[in-house]
Amino acid sequence: MTTTIDTHVDDATFAKHESEVRSYCRNWPAVFTTASGSWLTAQDGIRYLDFFAGAGALNYGHNHPVLKERLIDYLVRDGITHGLDMYTQAKGEFLETFNQRILSPRGYDYRVQFPGPTGTNAVEAALKLARKVTGREAVVSFTNAFHGMTLGSLAVTGNAMKRAGAGIPLVHSTPMPFDNYFDGAMEDFSWFAKTLDDSGSGLNRPAAVIVETVQGEGGVNVASAEWLRALAELCREREILLIVDDVQMGCGRTGEFFSFEFAGIRPDIVTLSKSIGGYGLPMALTLIRPDLDVWGPGEHNGTFRGNNPSFVTATAALEQFWADDDLTDAVHRKGAIIEDRFAELCIKHPELSHRGRGLVQGLVFEDGEKAAAACAHAFEHGLLVETAGPSDEVMKLLPPLTISEEDLRHGLDILAAAVEEVLA
Ligand code: PMP
Repeated sequence: MTTTIDTHVDDATFAKHESEVRSYCRNWPAVFTTASGSWLTAQDGIRYLDFFAGAGALNYGHNHPVLKERLIDYLVRDGITHGLDMYTQAKGEFLETFNQRILSPRGYDYRVQFPGPTGTNAVEAALKLARKVTGREAVVSFTNAFHGMTLGSLAVTGNAMKRAGAGIPLVHSTPMPFDNYFDGAMEDFSWFAKTLDDSGSGLNRPAAVIVETVQGEGGVNVASAEWLRALAELCREREILLIVDDVQMGCGRTGEFFSFEFAGIRPDIVTLSKSIGGYGLPMALTLIRPDLDVWGPGEHNGTFRGNNPSFVTATAALEQFWADDDLTDAVHRKGAIIEDRFAELCIKHPELSHRGRGLVQGLVFEDGEKAAAACAHAFEHGLLVETAGPSDEVMKLLPPLTISEEDLRHGLDILAAAVEEVLA
């Protein structure tokens, strides 16, 4: 029997067939077809400038020609696509390149675990390992943290709506105030240090502390270098493992490859995902201080730990972008362009404030409705930008690191007009 398949696609296709859980598409109801660099094109031909970059998975833009060529070559010569954790040339080349380009020059020594394809897999592996190494159960996380949607990573995530989705109690985690949670009214570490050292505090001695240097989903909350150094010191003194979740802020988002380099700290465990694959292909890493690598073979596994096309584009990205400091310099320069523009808007509209590091920058509105209205206005004028924060009150800019200054300024013009419109 032959049937004719109607492949016409519009909003109704998704409303009819796709789960209610879909989210980004509700704010950006276009059907996208192609993308190149910092631009996406929808099926009606409208082009959108991307200040979202796959939530940080597209730091090098869409379909970068150098990465694309390496990927196509690999596919054409029948390179291994799926390999569990078998040794493959693509994986070996990635490991060598990652060590030579990233770890060695920075004096970092980590074993690389491939925990599964996404960020939450890297976080789960990190938490599990920290518990195995220390024999303790509790993990300290921070207010407004985001670490993923599976039960372990959700337990160390702050957002009440996301937590409620678990449907069961989320346990063995204790939230502590992130840097500046009390707007400078309280000395940052007094609560944390005191509860750790007070046998009457009720705080179980934690296996680990998990932290983002800039909280992306939590509203672009920036930890200072001093705060991070004090946290690292506190963990070292108390023999608590320090996990930096660099899933969103790693791979150059804040300028340097790792977002914690600027503080001069050495986390015990680091999670990376999103842009490590370079091309938007799924890939995640859990980086482990060598003496903590106490896994037994296969004790943590997963079918999609070895996405070899991702290794190929990841290696290509490290070679293309991390042979020198050019990208880091460009991120600082372009970040300053956004900061200047945001500062102007904040002077004009005192109800606004701004914060960020490198190419993660947030414009903070008084409430979520205004931020959402500004993002909706931007979309109508051809710009993708999302909100973050507990009430979605922060317009969060995550443009590709490779964006041209011209495109960046163009997007900022659209944003400024959206702000004027909403705050008029
Ligand atoms: N950690 C951080 C800091 C993140 O921003 C995210 C995703 N936004 C995750 C973990 C989870 O990654 P994934 O969605 O790939 O599971």
